[in-house]
Amino acid sequence: MSDNKHFSATEAEFGFLKEIVKLLPAGLTVQDAHGELLLVNDTALNQLGMDGRRPPPDLAQRKEAGRQALQAGQAVVIEEALHDGAARQVLLTTHRPVRLAGRDLLISASSDITEQKNFEDQLFRSAYFDELTGLPSRRVIEHRANSLLARDNRGERFALAFLDVDNFKHINDYYGHAVGDALLVELSKRLGRDLRDSDMLSRISGDEFLLLLSPIQSQEEVAEFMQSTLQRLTAPFFIDSSEVFASTSVGISLYPDHGRNFETLRQNADIAMYRIKNDGKGAATFFDSSMEREALARMKIEQSLRQAILEKRFCCAFQSKVDIRTQAVKGIEALVRLRDDEGVIQAPGSFINLAVELGLIDELTHLVLAEIVKSIDLINDTFGAEASISINVAAKQAGNPEFMRNFAQALEDTGFPRRFMIEVTEDAFVAKNHFQTEILPLFRRLGVGISIDDFGIGYSSLSALADITADEIKIDRSFITDIHKRPRSQGILRAIESLSEALGMTVIAEGLESYEELAYLQAATKIRYAQGYYFSRPIFLEELKLATPASSEARMSSASRPSEPNRQGYARASGYRR
Ligand code: C2E
Ligand code: MG
Ligand code: MG
Repeated sequence: MSDNKHFSATEAEFGFLKEIVKLLPAGLTVQDAHGELLLVNDTALNQLGMDGRRPPPDLAQRKEAGRQALQAGQAVVIEEALHDGAARQVLLTTHRPVRLAGRDLLISASSDITEQKNFEDQLFRSAYFDELTGLPSRRVIEHRANSLLARDNRGERFALAFLDVDNFKHINDYYGHAVGDALLVELSKRLGRDLRDSDMLSRISGDEFLLLLSPIQSQEEVAEFMQSTLQRLTAPFFIDSSEVFASTSVGISLYPDHGRNFETLRQNADIAMYRIKNDGKGAATFFDSSMEREALARMKIEQSLRQAILEKRFCCAFQSKVDIRTQAVKGIEALVRLRDDEGVIQAPGSFINLAVELGLIDELTHLVLAEIVKSIDLINDTFGAEASISINVAAKQAGNPEFMRNFAQALEDTGFPRRFMIEVTEDAFVAKNHFQTEILPLFRRLGVGISIDDFGIGYSSLSALADITADEIKIDRSFITDIHKRPRSQGILRAIESLSEALGMTVIAEGLESYEELAYLQAATKIRYAQGYYFSRPIFLEELKLATPASSEARMSSASRPSEPNRQGYARASGYRR
């Protein structure tokens, strides 16, 4: 009886173990020396396609690995990729030969690592392929170019083209990033059409592409091909119910003519592309050595700008905004100047864009504010303590919340934030970022005024103006010049004027130079304020102090101003040089 009991316990135990083996999350098989399966648990049934739930995968490779393990009498660990039609299953399998009850058996345990494997593949793909467009990455095209360079024995030529989408930032700002992304995808499709298998298109960053054309017979052939590619880009892209136009600037270098390694070829193609950007965009050109000299000169300017920032070689000129009826100074605008290596004063036209491009503009703006704070007594003496003080902020800065928060803080720290206005071009307002909703309220809370600079020449329209909340609108000089002789500008001026009035914005005419222009504004419009050489050139405070030592006389109020139209004396006192 007790034996019986013992026996049944073992049997129960055996059944218990069988059940566990059956349910193990790892696949387990036992086979004999002939490959005959003696045991297959549930997981293995599924992995090997033996449970009828999916088509059985090809097991030839697995069988071979098992056979080898048995023969060698040594365990092996292998990664097995089992394909059943479309799906791929990756198993990490240990084949372990054992000798049990006088028989040679093979125990195989497999865990499913498909998910981990897919993830690794995805990581691999993202290192070599651009996620958005699916194009090969910079590493891949570099590798391809290098392998072409390495087999340089047949005198084979190839071309490397550097492509940069024109005004992509504007497109992104205006339509939003989703449209920008979709445009890049469509563009890459159009660019990639008509390529041979031996050519390669790669997206190397934001809106930059590299195109490798290989092999090539002649420069003419490449020029012709690029021409037809650019032609394809001229048709509009229809994205998200918008009609988007996008052109591309292309610089091309040829191997071996323009460089013997990838980096040189890429750089020279980039230099050629830069030339096209400056020549009006949307075209292609080949590199030549004169461009290299240009690029060197540009680098020198870059260097000296960085140096000037480091050494704080900047100063401000101030130009007044004048009430055209009373001649009172309503406010002043700070216009930054650079003292170059030789001490010559440079106007911002020569360096502001570069400073923006190089990421130096934020520092520059803080320098301008610091100079204003330092000179505030002199500013008050010269223009009156009520005059507002305007500072220009580049559109790129306006779209950068981090800078704008810092700048708002710096304005608050002056102790007189209400004196300030910031001047921003209209591009900043139409951009689909948070400028209007998040950044502007920050400045409003401090009592800082908002001015739209250079209105009329940017990307916005009159209807966009209705959505903008600003205190002041400055009509660009191009509309004011010879306004008395230009009916078209007069019409535009009237439209801006009435819309601004409805929206409660003060209108300022920029670049007023002549008595005739002033007379027109006074007679035909309700515009109250103007800024221009006619009233005052931008002036350096120190020079004004030197020119007229008695500061009460220097004060530019209506009482002390000469009333005749010719204001040459002021121009001279300003010491303004372009
Ligand atoms: P803006 O803000 O529109 O400034 C007016 C520009 O027109 C100034 O040129 C001024 O000297 C010039 N101007 C004023 N009246 C007349 C006139 O009657 N006739 C003509 N022909 N020109 C006149 P400036 O000082 O060369 O500055 C050019 C631009 O540089 C400014 O245009 C502004 O956009 C930018 N800028 C100046 N300072 C700064 C700054 O601190 N930060 C930033 N981000 N930009 C600045
Ligand atoms: Mg301005
Ligand atoms: Mg302006």
